[in-house]
Amino acid sequence: ASRALADAWTGPAQTADGTRVTVMANVADAESARNAATAPVEGVGLFRTELCFLDRKEEPSAQEQGDIYAGVLEPFKAQGPDVHVVVRTLDAGSDKPVAFATLEDEENPALGVRGLRLAISNPELLERQLDGIAIAAERTGVDTWVMAPMVATVAEAADFAERVRSRGLKPGVMIEVPSAALLASRMLEVVDFLSIGTNDLTQYVMAADRLATDLAHLTDPWQPAVLHMVAITAEAGRRARKPVGVCGEAAADPLLAVALVGMGVTSLSMAPAAVRAVGAQLSQVNMTTAEKAAEAALSASDPMAGRDAVRAVLEG
Ligand code: PEP
Ligand code: MG
Repeated sequence: ASRALADAWTGPAQTADGTRVTVMANVADAESARNAATAPVEGVGLFRTELCFLDRKEEPSAQEQGDIYAGVLEPFKAQGPDVHVVVRTLDAGSDKPVAFATLEDEENPALGVRGLRLAISNPELLERQLDGIAIAAERTGVDTWVMAPMVATVAEAADFAERVRSRGLKPGVMIEVPSAALLASRMLEVVDFLSIGTNDLTQYVMAADRLATDLAHLTDPWQPAVLHMVAITAEAGRRARKPVGVCGEAAADPLLAVALVGMGVTSLSMAPAAVRAVGAQLSQVNMTTAEKAAEAALSASDPMAGRDAVRAVLEG
């Protein structure tokens, strides 16, 4: 889609033939949430809570966390019943060290105790955070969904879901680990939604550090193996009739966004700056074209061939 089309696009997002796609924003704090609320989005698909605490030595109380999270939910108050905010519980560890949560001296932090795994030895940390999220949801009245990062097993998902549901909130898990993608249909038996984190999913499918610039050819979400994991997950969502979103960088690439929607992904969450280009691109394609784009990307031999093939599909 052209720059002019993108500038003129106002949402809500749908394909040319009217299939709705929920386009949402990724946010880090109250300020970025206020900015995101001015974009044509239907809420927040990824609130990275750990980014609120990068400079904190001590863990804030549940009450103080409630105040912080309410500041993020607040701008989406009164934006209508279709708007919701997905809060991700602490994804501390590895590339996002949080002083009060991260374990020190791990040999292999990307494969270590990060994300939901912190709750193994410290379930109270998760409990206090969920209390804080519940306080903010209650205070603002915003439809609040809660998801866990770095989930690897159905048992982890079930345990998390129980904790979230006991507070009257809607539980989901991120699909970032290949084991979770392969078992997406079983994950959906215990949670209400899935959100694919393509940044980490790519890192773990390709066994390539997401921060290693020398490996950029491998840490590319167009890698067909990564897209097959996405397709398995989206198909599970279709069968279960439950939402499956993408909240990694892949969602912000208009060309790839078309293929993701063709696979059955129901929501895309991205930096607000990318929203209009993605929305405008989706408005230009029919669902059958998106499905062909998905097929083309999945059957390509490498990322560059995938991009070319999807472009060719869109040019008809
Ligand atoms: C991801 O891994 O794709 C993701 C959205 O989470 P983060 O980038 O915060 O790890
Ligand atoms: Mg991640």
